[in-house]
Amino acid sequence: MGCAQNNKNSQNKANTNLSSQNTPNTMEFKKLTPEEERVIVFKGTEAPFTGKYENFYGKGVYVCKRCGNPLYRSEDKFDAKCGWPSFDDEIPGAIKRIPDADGMRTEIECAKCGAHLGHVFMGEGFTPKNIRNCVNSISLDFKPADQAVKADPVIKTDTAIFAGGCFWGVEYYMKKAKGVKSVASGYTGGHKDHPTYEEVCAGRTGHYEAVEVVFDPTQTTYENVARLFFEIHDPTEWNHQGPDFGEQYRSAVFFRNENQKEVADKLIALLKEKGFNVVTEVKKASTFWKAENSHQDYYEHKGTLPYCHGYVKRF
Ligand SMILES: [Zn+2]
Repeated sequence: MGCAQNNKNSQNKANTNLSSQNTPNTMEFKKLTPEEERVIVFKGTEAPFTGKYENFYGKGVYVCKRCGNPLYRSEDKFDAKCGWPSFDDEIPGAIKRIPDADGMRTEIECAKCGAHLGHVFMGEGFTPKNIRNCVNSISLDFKPADQAVKADPVIKTDTAIFAGGCFWGVEYYMKKAKGVKSVASGYTGGHKDHPTYEEVCAGRTGHYEAVEVVFDPTQTTYENVARLFFEIHDPTEWNHQGPDFGEQYRSAVFFRNENQKEVADKLIALLKEKGFNVVTEVKKASTFWKAENSHQDYYEHKGTLPYCHGYVKRF
């Protein structure tokens, strides 16, 4: 566990980034009405079937009522018949997920200003993405498509999830790939909600250290990203990479649809033909829990290079 013990345990792993206490106060905020404040600031909920956007399907972008940050696209809105606007995807990086104070649900906030939006639910089967962002209308403002939201071109992105050992190294190399918009380090495939780094490392949760790669399909493909994944970690090692040993370091592709599964199976077959004894698991994606902030952009912050990962041409 070289990577894990020498470096990670010496990090300050205070788990405080999960709260939104540090809302920047220099930001330009819209003045809120008392009802807006009740929901947005004090995390209230508007009555179902009453909100402005509950039964509204204009084409455009939904922005944060308080700070104007673009949050959701009309293309991702669907009718869940639950009484609140529902979206099965978000604009990448726009939303922060945090454990709700009720200990059960996952709250969603504007990633820019911390405004309370609602809750996110997974696995309900409403749409193929299987996610429902349940959002209060009052937390949103709608910008019609013909009034372009400035500096935020609407790019339809796709997402890939991989586990290939210590997530710092996988994240480092994935970020540099063409067409990749963002990479987050996190945990997936286990059985505990909101796992912490300590729990995952102790092997108590069944989670894999994983990365969530958001890419622009007009600039790259899932196959390109998956090929890179197989070349920046050793897919012939089941539960260790470099100096790191443990089940959280298992090699796995978490597919989000049939196409991704086919690509992963194809690449594994290709590598096996070349004589690599690939042990990478191909599993259906489940909830991706973003890791604590101290684990994001780790090498950029540290100013060093990964030593548990490196690029090896395999295809
Ligand atoms: Zn905001």
